[in-house]
Amino acid sequence: MKCVVCKGELKKATTSEFKDFQNRIIFVRDIPCHKCSECGEFVFSLKVGVRVEEIIDTLKESLTAEIAVVQYSLTEIKAVQYSETVAA
Ligand SMILES: [Zn+2]
Repeated sequence: MKCVVCKGELKKATTSEFKDFQNRIIFVRDIPCHKCSECGEFVFSLKVGVRVEEIIDTLKESLTAEIAVVQYSLTEIKAVQYSETVAA
């Protein structure tokens, strides 16, 4: 697998993503991805991106704290069901 930006070598890594909603922040940790060893670009698969959006959407509904931090892996089963629905 090669980097789309510089054609450098991609290595397995994890990253974090956050979304800011007015006065609330949702932070998703330990998202599996690939990181370019040359330019540092992070690459997600489409499936992972869809899951991250689903995690954030779900939290957005129920969130009462100003800042929520969630581990990507803990919500994986629910998110997998979502992506299968999308594929069908
Ligand atoms: Zn690169």
